[in-house]
Amino acid sequence: MQFRDLRTQYNVLKDEIDKEIKSVLENSNYILGEQVIELEKKLAEYVGVKHCITCASGTDALILSLMALQIGEGDAVFVPNFTYIATVSSEIIRGATPILVDIDKDTYNMSYKGLDEAIKKVLSEGKLKPKLVITVDLFGQCAEYGKIREITDKYGLKILEDGAQGFGGSIKGKKACSFGDIGVTSFFPAKPLGCYGDGGAIFTNDDSVDMVLRSLRSHGKSVNDKYDNQEIGINSRLDTIQAAILIPKLKAFVDYELDAVNRVSKHYTELLNNIVKTPIVLDEYVSSWAQYTILLKDEKQRDGLKEFLKSKGIPTMVYYPRGIHQQSAIIKMGYGKENFPVTEYVVKRCLSLPIHPYLKEDEIEFIAQNIINYMN
Ligand SMILES: *Cc1c(COP(=O)(O)O)cnc(C)c1O
Repeated sequence: MQFRDLRTQYNVLKDEIDKEIKSVLENSNYILGEQVIELEKKLAEYVGVKHCITCASGTDALILSLMALQIGEGDAVFVPNFTYIATVSSEIIRGATPILVDIDKDTYNMSYKGLDEAIKKVLSEGKLKPKLVITVDLFGQCAEYGKIREITDKYGLKILEDGAQGFGGSIKGKKACSFGDIGVTSFFPAKPLGCYGDGGAIFTNDDSVDMVLRSLRSHGKSVNDKYDNQEIGINSRLDTIQAAILIPKLKAFVDYELDAVNRVSKHYTELLNNIVKTPIVLDEYVSSWAQYTILLKDEKQRDGLKEFLKSKGIPTMVYYPRGIHQQSAIIKMGYGKENFPVTEYVVKRCLSLPIHPYLKEDEIEFIAQNIINYMN
């Protein structure tokens, strides 16, 4: 059994994917070929925004967005403390200061109360300029945008939505990656929509941000003169081969994978919700289930269950074993000295179970039965 079975998906989509790859090879249009344009159009349409700009990774999507928003030295960027490191390293790379915010105990997304307090604190200290909130749609569930937008409007901040895990999720039918002033996602193979290598995308309704981003991903080139650079950018484009792979994969994702993975999570929850703390999805939210993460009583029980499941051939992962404030690089730089009681509670107790659209019913039952056996 695999934690995320990418091979089964490939076997199902093999004919289309092979055909798409072959066509790129035959046309040799490796950089910004027509498949990239086609994919960007389809992604923008699906997410429900005007523009999609693909790039080389989710991390680059964050960095490019911060460049477009002109975030840099002296700026405070508010980020949840329980996320993948890229959410935080991107603004550090840009010279800005990350302000870590604790998480909600049920969704594990950024606590909006914590956000409000953190902004007030930065303002009262008067050293940094509050500029931006980077929200994370953790494990596939959107952050609480209604509440967060109220706060950012109050203080005049922008939102950059890190939808690397959230692609396909929604609130009242409105899709992830459409909630921020800019939204980003990642096509790392294990994400809800993955390619066969690294890739990422940026979403926005703002025409001028779209123009700037298209330039920045190609070394800041001018629109009309490729060898006159209007700004300093980077080289970050999605390979045509990856775009070609993503076209049939996006279709499968929209047609049935998102429904299938929601059936898997529902089945897990039915079998496990009296045994462990199962994931909580808010009313009118749909998750894309990047992870299905349960919470155990304490660290000992979590680690014991992980070992037990491993002995039965069931792979699990700890997403994440530490908060951002417990990462060596962050400690070294002197960030994250506040208290993060919810993060510290969750990192000791969380365990992510295998989840993907091709997980079979008998596999789900086998996993759940083993969890039940261990707990008894
Ligand atoms: C994976 C991930 C990223 C980075 O994406 P890459 O494509 O691996 O660079 C950023 N933020 C979050 C929340 C992620 O899960």
